[in-house]
Amino acid sequence: MNSKIYLSSPHMGGTERNYVREAFDTNWIAPLGPNVTGFENSLENYLGDEIFVAALSSGTAALHLALILLGVESGDEVICQSMTFSASANPIVYQGATPVFVDSEADTWNICPQRLEEAILDRIAKGKKPKAIIAVHLYGMPYKVDEINIISKKYKIPVIEDSAEALGSTYKNQKCGTFGDISILSFNGNKIITTSGGGALVTKNKSIKEKAIFLATQARDAAAHYQHTQIGYNYRLSNICAGIGRGQMEVLDKHVGLRREMNLFYKNIFKNSKGVHVFSEPTEDYKSNHWLSCILIEEEKAGFSSHTLRLALEKENIEARPLWKPMHLQPVFSSAPYYGESLSEDLFKNGLCLPSGSNLSTIEKERIKNVLKQFV
Ligand SMILES: *Cc1c(COP(=O)(O)O)cnc(C)c1O
Repeated sequence: MNSKIYLSSPHMGGTERNYVREAFDTNWIAPLGPNVTGFENSLENYLGDEIFVAALSSGTAALHLALILLGVESGDEVICQSMTFSASANPIVYQGATPVFVDSEADTWNICPQRLEEAILDRIAKGKKPKAIIAVHLYGMPYKVDEINIISKKYKIPVIEDSAEALGSTYKNQKCGTFGDISILSFNGNKIITTSGGGALVTKNKSIKEKAIFLATQARDAAAHYQHTQIGYNYRLSNICAGIGRGQMEVLDKHVGLRREMNLFYKNIFKNSKGVHVFSEPTEDYKSNHWLSCILIEEEKAGFSSHTLRLALEKENIEARPLWKPMHLQPVFSSAPYYGESLSEDLFKNGLCLPSGSNLSTIEKERIKNVLKQFV
């Protein structure tokens, strides 16, 4: 059997080990130290001027702290894009709040501005104004930033930008991760860069960064003894993991380029095929890191389903996966309100994520191509 080809696997640049070794040599084996500070500086420099980054143990932890910092409490409602990974929505429930799910639009597959406004108006009419909007750049594709920001300003509801999949993407030449009132990043093992596990909270306000670090380190008040006036969390990133992150930052742009090449690779394979659409930017304003390359199959036209194609790839030990199953279809969220029709459901039914790593070899690409060629 050929070795397994994964959707997205870790891709080390080479210098990660040096930073990790330095942590050992200097005995900084703790959730603080020079690598944590160095990694934060490197992300701040990458994202732009007046950006502040708090390195955390995961993207999920960053979302949880973002909700706390925006004052989300028990009984509140928070709007969330339905088509996403469960980690976008789970922290709403950690706070005892209720998620209100909103459908996607067809251009970027992200939160639909019309449905969003409809949801806000209906929740207000029912007596509760939502406390925040969680918008996601799915698979690295920027959401409709201008449209969402207009709605956010109009109703004075802050946006939490879930940029877990979109480090290296831009909208109108501005980097994803800098659009929200608070933004978050993830460095899980399958993301565009990895620290094995990790995340970050991104803000334009230095005091928000300081508050995030305070909450992430057990909310210790300034005192010689352990004194607490608030509930804290253990959410800081390890100095070992941050060392991996520092090395990964050195190859981020290169890896974005390679992921974008994978997208072209699929466009080329499917260029003459009927009923298969490779997910791509709707206009020049959008630049996706193409964290994952996805296709949408119109079964009638194509003559095969996403399911059939997935099984054919699986037979050759090549991983492919359906798109995220919308949150409003998840049993755990079955009682949550939902605004929209069936767009996200159709994407889930007809879409497929294909191997997209920046480290796929020529031989691996040939293996993928050989299976796909049978379908075009
Ligand atoms: C990966 C991911 C997260 C969570 O990040 P972790 O670091 O795994 O906790 C949140 N949202 C989206 C859209 C993700 O893909």
